[in-house]
Amino acid sequence: MIPLDAIEATANTLMAKAAIEIPDDYLAGLRAAADSEDGDLSSFVLHAMLENYAAAKEDGRAMCGDTGTPRWYVKMGNECRIEGGPVALEAALRRATAQATADVPLRPNRVHPLWRTDHDNNVGIGAPEIEYGFEPEGEWIDLITVHKGGLFGTDYRMLFPSDGIEGIKRFYLDSLVAFGKRGLACQPAIIGIGLGGAKDACMVLGKRAACLRTVGNRNSDPRIAELEEELKELGNSIGMGAMGFVGKNMVIDCNIEVGYCHTGGMQMSVHAFCLSSRRAVARIHADGRVEYRTDPDWFTPYQRRETVEWDLPTSRAKSA
Ligand code: SF4
Repeated sequence: MIPLDAIEATANTLMAKAAIEIPDDYLAGLRAAADSEDGDLSSFVLHAMLENYAAAKEDGRAMCGDTGTPRWYVKMGNECRIEGGPVALEAALRRATAQATADVPLRPNRVHPLWRTDHDNNVGIGAPEIEYGFEPEGEWIDLITVHKGGLFGTDYRMLFPSDGIEGIKRFYLDSLVAFGKRGLACQPAIIGIGLGGAKDACMVLGKRAACLRTVGNRNSDPRIAELEEELKELGNSIGMGAMGFVGKNMVIDCNIEVGYCHTGGMQMSVHAFCLSSRRAVARIHADGRVEYRTDPDWFTPYQRRETVEWDLPTSRAKSA
């Protein structure tokens, strides 16, 4: 059984890690962008951000004054048991979010949408969001926190199947140009695209594509992987770079996730994970061991399973 105190202590550590330490994969992508950028202002921004990330790590302070909106993704192996059950788990994640707001500190960004009530701790009705996933085997729990910035860097469009790949590219470019021109998110960013599902599922897929995949990781469907490469290149060829200035690095990577949809439609969402791509991950084992990493490894073959049955891994199938 996973001890609750291990969950809360790990969640506290993750909140600080996410706010302060830029993940290595994104940092490498940003360095590559800085090396290739020839737009004056874009280049200035990229180098300033690299210095800023180094200073944040050295000083142990948040990498951006806007610390975004913390959220949690929780994944469990099928045999995982948590002390106190799921209600205790959620309470621990909410406490850790409030604690980190005071300790790191994080900007208390969460308010009631109508009354603007602010508990000063990033916790409120439905906040932080906590989403769940499961894997067929294991006694572990993965805690993933994402401090999502880029409040306006998200859009949705209902496409028709006949819009095809050209329609996807059109909406993608429309979104990127709007994000850059109107200052809706800080670029360059990891862009996540959700295709299919219902409208709500499409939004979830796109956000997960932006926040839960690392730079350089490709979709397991080779045709989607090819489209990801193509869209990355396309996004970097519109003449816009960092913060919407003239340049050629607007997209650090482009990730696509799909879900089956109604035959009459082809839903599409676009999400920018902004210049501060904050995520931190830990696996807690049943014996209390904790392993930290920055790759959420969310989109396993099980998460992308195609139809009714899931084949057990060979080791398990033999012993069953
Ligand atoms: S969009 Fe991201 S980098 Fe820009 S201010 Fe918000 S959190 Fe900071």
